[in-house]
Amino acid sequence: MGVYSEIQQFIESHKTCGQVTGHVQTPTPEGYSVSVSCACGEEMSRWVTPEAARYDLIFSTLLCSPN
Ligand SMILES: [Zn+2]
Repeated sequence: MGVYSEIQQFIESHKTCGQVTGHVQTPTPEGYSVSVSCACGEEMSRWVTPEAARYDLIFSTLLCSPN
């Protein structure tokens, strides 16, 4: 299962408890860091390699701004 699916699952499972916020770092040649946190306090962060997931896909899923 890829990072993209994991993030989708996180968002799905925390839909009911409030707002899920995502943060995506500016991609580097080695990849980028994605973190999502929920209003309930749970967090998940993953390192994504350029091969593992498409930046624009995760970016649009989370609807967040790069730092
Ligand atoms: Zn939650």
